[in-house]
Amino acid sequence: MSSIQQNIEQITSQISNAQQKCGRVQESVQLLAVSKTKPNQAILDAALAGQIQFGENYVQEGVDKVSYFSEHHSNLALEWHFIGPIQSNKTRPVAEHFDWVHTVDRAKIAQRLSDQRPSQLPPLQVLIQVNTSGESSKSGIEEHQVFELAALICTLPNLTLRGLMSIPADVPDYASQLHAFKQLAELKQSLSERHPELNLDTLSMGMSGDMEAAIEAGSTMVRIGTAIFGARDYASKA
Ligand SMILES: *Cc1c(COP(=O)(O)O)cnc(C)c1O
Repeated sequence: MSSIQQNIEQITSQISNAQQKCGRVQESVQLLAVSKTKPNQAILDAALAGQIQFGENYVQEGVDKVSYFSEHHSNLALEWHFIGPIQSNKTRPVAEHFDWVHTVDRAKIAQRLSDQRPSQLPPLQVLIQVNTSGESSKSGIEEHQVFELAALICTLPNLTLRGLMSIPADVPDYASQLHAFKQLAELKQSLSERHPELNLDTLSMGMSGDMEAAIEAGSTMVRIGTAIFGARDYASKA
């Protein structure tokens, strides 16, 4: 068994323990394997261990990987999540290649993703990225802006709103992590009450360093890179 496969087994059992500890139903948290900067072979190793959902941060790198796997390993039926910042001039390749986008943070991006989604593909599954920790994190919209953006997304034919995502400030203590994650969970609850017609089933929160707190607060998708694939080497990236 490769080390990537061992890491996936270990993370899967950590997720399962965390669920058990706080009394959540087993299998209610999905594992998104964050493969940015990692080669196709690493993704293939993970896929052969049963991993299906992969997250990418950089548009060109992500598009290359999606294309490679749909050409050479379409039988694996991988699901691709875009989780990096999006510039409005890069929305087209994202709309054309990915299944999910976690980082929708303004009307213009939502509008363009919907306009550019090819009609033969299912709607793009999207999350609104929220800044729950004020100045310490640079990306995502303020909590009070979420309702207006959600209302817009509801009118866009080629997007399906599935929930919220956040990257809270990197703090080591469990109580502060839990506090930030609970804020996002409560916001999703209010949004669900405002939009009972939507099936908001996704809270994308928790990374290698704060996964347990995220799961206690109600995460349904943890985004794990380093703990699966090892440290990233950014020096080799152009
Ligand atoms: C890189 C990244 C991750 C994974 O981080 P690790 O610390 O390597 O687990 C998760 N979410 C986002 C948005 C990222 O950019």
